[in-house]
Amino acid sequence: MNVSLVIPAKLVDKVGILQERIPYLSESILGMTYCKDKHVVELILNDNEMESEQVSELRESYQDLCSSLENTRVIKERVVKSNLVPGNSAQWGVNKDDLGYSHFMNEYDIMLMERLDKEFIKIAIKHGAEQREYPSVLSKHNMTRNQYHIHFPQNIYGVTTVPHDYKAINNFRKKAQIDSYDESFVFQGEILQPCICYHCYEELQGKILLDGKMLTGKGNCFRHEIEWRKDNFRRSEFTMREIVYIGKENPVVETRNQIMEDVWVLFESLGLKGRITTATDPFFFSQDLKTKGTYQMMSNAKYELLVTTSSGKEVSIASFNYCQDMLCSKYEIKGSDEAALHSGCAAFGIDRWKEALKDIHGSDLKEWPEIDVGRGVLL
Ligand SMILES: [Zn+2]
Repeated sequence: MNVSLVIPAKLVDKVGILQERIPYLSESILGMTYCKDKHVVELILNDNEMESEQVSELRESYQDLCSSLENTRVIKERVVKSNLVPGNSAQWGVNKDDLGYSHFMNEYDIMLMERLDKEFIKIAIKHGAEQREYPSVLSKHNMTRNQYHIHFPQNIYGVTTVPHDYKAINNFRKKAQIDSYDESFVFQGEILQPCICYHCYEELQGKILLDGKMLTGKGNCFRHEIEWRKDNFRRSEFTMREIVYIGKENPVVETRNQIMEDVWVLFESLGLKGRITTATDPFFFSQDLKTKGTYQMMSNAKYELLVTTSSGKEVSIASFNYCQDMLCSKYEIKGSDEAALHSGCAAFGIDRWKEALKDIHGSDLKEWPEIDVGRGVLL
């Protein structure tokens, strides 16, 4: 079953944001195409599940989403770096392999991931970061401070358990045997980490830092992705490294910018094509824009490194964020003057870097071209 949603005239400059949000309107949506000339989004819906009542509910939710976006002022995208030649897209790809969704990584994948991460660690250490390892779960206390679950409920995975209680254990076992145990799980507020940096803030919570602090950590991160949008670039579980920088305003912004320069050098040395641009969707802002009213997104809050794949698709593989004093105030991390410090993070989607390399250079390291590609870096 297909349903067309008309894009209101007021939102024609926000089609991108709208397209990002529409798949979350209903679990019955199985696909989406945007017809630019008609200003219409076509949805493919699950026939079995959709009654006419549900279609009108979906339309209602869509109206709601549209009116909540009307008040957002989208900042004009600003490209700060690019090695793309206009009109010359999709000419550098040597790999014609099908990069469909894979449920496992082979030795080549693992090797590329390890070597890429070494390069990210080098950049982190160069800027003075200390290395860390953290658990994969964020505690309820941490969630209360970072509020990620309030801003992005659609992304989270909660962790449930069977209570350590004789009756509850037996009851669960009985229910499991007839496959009806869903409600016997208990949730105590733990969330699978969607990113690494909240652990860093938790570690420094309540501290007074005289000289600022830089930390770096890597881990598996989890986001509940729309099923039909998943591919090797967009996965529900992925490996991310973050570099977190905390300090006074100027050094924090300066560090963010320097890391961005270093990452761009690495990106080009690996033979990748793409650009760094301002992002309109800083991860720490609420998507429920209605509660916030009209606001202007900070123009320098987030930069994104977008790689262009051999098929011409753009994929974000790193972001460089500046949060002002927002997260440090939530975690009460202060400077010598008792004022909340400023902070930010650089985040690398290591799986995505790996996929981008395979897309451009193929699945055999020996076949990579020697010239102008970062073989020296990765070998
Ligand atoms: Zn972060």
